[in-house]
Amino acid sequence: MRYSELLLPTLKETPTEAEVVSHRLLLRAGFIRKLTSGIYTYLPLGLAAIRKVEQIVREEMNRAGAQELLMPMVQPADLWKESGRWEKYGPELLRFTDRHERESCLGPTHEEVITDLVRREIHSYRNLPVNLYQIQTKFRDEIRPRFGLMRGREFIMKDGYSFDATEKGAELTYQKMYNAYSRIFMRCGLSFRAVEADTGTIGGSFSHEFMVLADTGEDTLAICKDCAYAANMEKAAVKPFEKTGEETELLPLKKVETPGKKKVEKVCDFLGISPKQLVKTMVYLADGDPVAVLVRGDHEVQPVKLKNMLGAIEVELADEKQVFDITGVPSGYLGPIGLDIPVAADQVVSAMANFTAGANEKNFHLQNINFPRDFQVFQVADLRQVTEEDSCPSCGGGLELTKGIEVGHIFKLGDSYSKALNATFQDGSSEEQNFIMGCYGIGVSRTVAAAIEQNHDDNGIIFPLPLAPFQVIILNLDPKNKEISSAAESLYAQLQHEGMEVLIDDRDERPGIKFKDADLIGIPNRVTVGKRFAQEGEVEIRKRRDGQTQSLPLDKAMAEIVESIRHEMAATKE
Ligand code: ATP
Ligand code: MG
Repeated sequence: MRYSELLLPTLKETPTEAEVVSHRLLLRAGFIRKLTSGIYTYLPLGLAAIRKVEQIVREEMNRAGAQELLMPMVQPADLWKESGRWEKYGPELLRFTDRHERESCLGPTHEEVITDLVRREIHSYRNLPVNLYQIQTKFRDEIRPRFGLMRGREFIMKDGYSFDATEKGAELTYQKMYNAYSRIFMRCGLSFRAVEADTGTIGGSFSHEFMVLADTGEDTLAICKDCAYAANMEKAAVKPFEKTGEETELLPLKKVETPGKKKVEKVCDFLGISPKQLVKTMVYLADGDPVAVLVRGDHEVQPVKLKNMLGAIEVELADEKQVFDITGVPSGYLGPIGLDIPVAADQVVSAMANFTAGANEKNFHLQNINFPRDFQVFQVADLRQVTEEDSCPSCGGGLELTKGIEVGHIFKLGDSYSKALNATFQDGSSEEQNFIMGCYGIGVSRTVAAAIEQNHDDNGIIFPLPLAPFQVIILNLDPKNKEISSAAESLYAQLQHEGMEVLIDDRDERPGIKFKDADLIGIPNRVTVGKRFAQEGEVEIRKRRDGQTQSLPLDKAMAEIVESIRHEMAATKE
């Protein structure tokens, strides 16, 4: 491809609306343009990177025995009503009516449509298992679309669905998908971890998220330093609490004035205690109903654990006004004694002695509170987030918290959809059985953004070779010079002949601009043909990642690049 003919509108300025690196660089490098909130056009290079991810995904899904199909984006409400999700899905589902007043929605995911297809087409265990996938634009009316391709309203997803006759078969399929996903992200050249994920109300240990490790990730992962344990914070269990057996003398309750001290640190400083001796009372709305959760001062509530414990669809932290409306107490002074709403306690709180908490009265706290002497709760459970002070729930080793970006999610669904949609097949004894399903998603467009979050420097993107829109860029530094141009052109032709993906910068621009743009768009290999070629017959090859350069005669440079690309691509497939 010739740069002079390419729609590649790079920007010198950093776009102000972009908060994260991948968003900034995707805009600056001319890969995407925003149409409206959360909705982007993929320009040629942006699309090229997306196609690279898609190709790897296809190859590995096919290799694992899955088949590609393509389902409609517009889906009838009736199917969603059958599964019960028309009510449950919430405002992320974009609903509309057509000219015949038929209710429809734009597909955010396709469990209903695929289950409907399979219940119509597959009737016998002989035709199972079957694993079907598509790569398609999804629409989710996200409450806060942000970070460019990271959280769009419209985005490209690979979604796959498997149907098995038995639990055992479904577990085998799950394992196959786990392996396929591991290969996919390895082949993308990304540093990633598969972590145990929350399975919501379905339960079981068959859900993994594939996380690209990057400091800017929205998710936090707990990874064991000693064993293979890795889990999303939403799921990471705190090791069951062991009482020390030490007897502490329970002191009488004491009310103390804490004027204007609302925050944990302020109260602790004022009273001369550690946050480990204080209990925070957090009010949540679980499907609209208030519930208070007690956690130690230095701990945080994990809302997903709370949601699962309550069996709620959504839990949300109440804001100050809501807290006041519900309890009549200004936030900061809440405590468990005499609180008029259901109270749950984290397991750690249940073992604390003589702790401090709000007195449910402005400017006052209570000290020497003890459970169950002074108050009741409806449940004691693991409701908090793990910290680096906790130990691994699997081996007891040390935990490390790190940030990640969720690029894939695999999930054993069981028969929840096949039951709801009455999707059955005949087993070996002619009995009707529900299909055992699994679903498997990859955020294709998000993977490109995540690759950039993980691989960039001050000058721009540093694409992993397998995702780069081009493998090599040739800079013709002086298109008007015949000798230089013919060398650059012959290199261009020969590299293409060798099957390399090449971009040649043949623009009539200053060398400085060409160097800057080449760095910005992140092409892994650069060949510069300039003055040095005219003088010494050498061109410079340079690796974008480590800046390593070599000056070589044309033919040697050509051989070196081809060899290096073939070698590196082969390594990602091992
Ligand atoms: P998240 O927690 O980030 O909202 P999710 O759990 O809703 O993700 P899934 O329903 O499992 O996501 O979708 C499969 C994959 O699609 C995710 O792993 C992610 O990579 C991608 N994805 C989900 N929502 C978006 C979005 N708004 N923009 C881009 N990619 C997305
Ligand atoms: Mg989501």
